[in-house]
Amino acid sequence: MFNGVSEALLKQCLEYARQRGYEFVSIDELVRRALSGVEARHPMLCLTLDDGYADQVTRLVPMLLEYEAKPTLFVISDFADDQDWPWDAQLAYAVKACEASSVTLALGERHRVFDLNGKPDRIFCRRTIVQYAKTLDSAHLSDFILHVAATCQVTIPERAPEGYRPATWSMLREWEDKGLKIGSHNRSHNVLTALDPERVGAELKYSWERLSSELAAPSKTFCYPSGTARDFSKTHESLVRSAGYEAGVTTLSRIAYFRDIRRNPYRISRIGFPDTVAQFARYASWVEALRSKLPF
Ligand SMILES: [Zn+2]
Repeated sequence: MFNGVSEALLKQCLEYARQRGYEFVSIDELVRRALSGVEARHPMLCLTLDDGYADQVTRLVPMLLEYEAKPTLFVISDFADDQDWPWDAQLAYAVKACEASSVTLALGERHRVFDLNGKPDRIFCRRTIVQYAKTLDSAHLSDFILHVAATCQVTIPERAPEGYRPATWSMLREWEDKGLKIGSHNRSHNVLTALDPERVGAELKYSWERLSSELAAPSKTFCYPSGTARDFSKTHESLVRSAGYEAGVTTLSRIAYFRDIRRNPYRISRIGFPDTVAQFARYASWVEALRSKLPF
């Protein structure tokens, strides 16, 4: 996953992976190989990006394709349709644009004062309110966004503003032609546990229909919004399967072994992109150390 990854860091990590003999595989290929029962003979690296912002496609995807890294981008279909923009981005926008040096926000019953003097304060505020907002159903989430916007004295635009624009379907088609795989990150960015099961089923189906009608060959792998253990359940794994997806990726942060994918292809773990090349190298050495001890 990539969140605010610089081109320079990405390039260094791709170089490192190439030199260490990692094979780049797309997520669909990884799933296919795991389910075929063949054992992995060498370490593989599968790179995925979530959400579908325009700058992911213009900045990161070209570099990934240049390295033949077989990336997959998971898009929020209402965002690509420019019907909506991610709720977490709306909260980030409000906190960033707030001109006050502190704000008091109501997180349920609790009122919390957030300093907004420096960038780390703003990051802390954003992370805290996003964690809280994840637990709200969609009506309460809309109310909470209005509360944050009003308190921050910021008007949240209806469509994604500059800096938060989505990759359009025509951009996505252009990069799909060049080798980018595109999959569903659902219709909205709401975490599945915050929606009732009927709505989850309808969103899963709708986003697949949108991707299928706009793209030549969308990925059959689904990407859970947020994707931590609290953000989806066994019920959601079944709904994802019933909607016709063949696998699901999470943000459960572990190396993905073939045997785990075979056991449950709807709960594939992923490691967040590292902050430094040294950290990337540490992940790589764990993989190599584990390989010498365990069958993949
Ligand atoms: Zn996301």
